[in-house]
This record gives sequence, structure tokens and C-alpha cells, in this order.
Amino acid sequence: MTGEWVGEYPEDVKAIAKAGHDIGNHSENHKQMSQISEEKCKREIMVAHKRVKELLGTDMFLFRPPNCNRV
Ligand SMILES: [Zn+2]
Repeated sequence: MTGEWVGEYPEDVKAIAKAGHDIGNHSENHKQMSQISEEKCKREIMVAHKRVKELLGTDMFLFRPPNCNRV
């Protein structure tokens, strides 16, 4: 999930985790990773990561790049 979404729907995130699903990182703002700097990529990942860490106390270990169906 994106960090933006986590911020908007924290109760849904909790419910998804409680139902037994792994929570995966999908970046903070759904930017295309190949179009931004490495530093921004790290920030996109870590801002979302910290949101989930603060909300659930868990470290996300999965990452799906946004728009990865595009070449
Ligand atoms: Zn997406």
C-alpha cells in the first residue's frame, strides 16, 4: 500500500494486518521509481515504511514498485 493511503485509512490498514495479510510497501506517493533520483526512491520507500512502523509496529519487507507494468 502507499503511504498516502495508510495515512488516509489507518483503520483499514489495521484490519488488513489483523486478518493475517502481509503489508507491502508500494511507495509514499506512487511515483515511477525509474523517473526519480535514487535519493528520492529511498525517501519514497522509507516514508511509507515509517508510517506503517508507527501504525502497526511492523517492518514491511515487501516492495512493489508503482507502475511496474510500464516499460
Ligand atoms: Zn500502484
